[in-house]
Amino acid sequence: MCGAHVARAGSLPYQHGVSAPLATLIEERAGHYNRRFVVRLADGASVEAVLYRGDTLCVSTQVGCAVGCPFCASGANGLTRPLRFEELRAQVQAVRAVAPELVRLTLSGVGEPLHCPDAAALVRWALDERLRATLTTSGGPLPKLRAWLLEVPHNGITLSVHAGTEATRARLVPHAPPLDALFATLADVVPLLSARRRKKLALAYLMIDGENDRDDELDAFADRVLAIGAAVHLYAYNPVPTSAARPVSRARYEAAYERLANRGLRVRMSSKARVEANGGCGTLVALRAGPPAPRPAREGAPVRS
Ligand code: SF4
Repeated sequence: MCGAHVARAGSLPYQHGVSAPLATLIEERAGHYNRRFVVRLADGASVEAVLYRGDTLCVSTQVGCAVGCPFCASGANGLTRPLRFEELRAQVQAVRAVAPELVRLTLSGVGEPLHCPDAAALVRWALDERLRATLTTSGGPLPKLRAWLLEVPHNGITLSVHAGTEATRARLVPHAPPLDALFATLADVVPLLSARRRKKLALAYLMIDGENDRDDELDAFADRVLAIGAAVHLYAYNPVPTSAARPVSRARYEAAYERLANRGLRVRMSSKARVEANGGCGTLVALRAGPPAPRPAREGAPVRS
């Protein structure tokens, strides 16, 4: 059951001879699909990591986040600092010690991975460890996005777009590149990618009630994506206590899916693991602020990924 219990995961030191371990699992909350961990770092700061379906670990790259998305618990208090490579690696190792079946990483937890100087080093280390690594980014700074698309050995990049117009983008993803600049970069870089790498690029759209769920907003987003040819991840929103943002109804979510798919886009809906209150964009850090907020109803609804 989602959020059914909280267990002590124990202290897992990873460096001998130092006073505090680089990463310690201090709390675990298990759901039906996911296990969500609070990870304490040596300086006392905490981040969170979510193990999806037992084999995919969502890791945090920063303590807090500077992008300031108003729907997100992770960035509600701004940025404290990025994680160093040793801390990123220790975070993975701490969870791997209790989940040895781990085969994938996704840099999609707390923080903007492109703002973390050592995130690329983690991806390269993961490759040596036979862990395939993907990331989710709001896209900036654009020279870094370009470098990640062309040079870093990732296994996929999901760009958080969440808007079709500049006004909505500026409201929902405030300290990230505007859409015109973001899509100009993509138009420039995508033709340089191999067919395999192009397939690994997806654009995310998180549906938020009254914010970006109008048909004209979706149509403007579709126009931009069609010019690039990338897949779309249409996400349902998990509400968090730090934000007044609310999810759209299931009917509206499915109508948005149909609208984008009818434009010829390859669209994927949220997985069951992502819809669970332990998972999902912008929900991390909420665990320490109290129990997860109620999920939107989803019983009997189609789930396409
Ligand atoms: S959604 Fe991602 S980019 Fe936006 S504030 Fe949260 S962690 Fe940062």
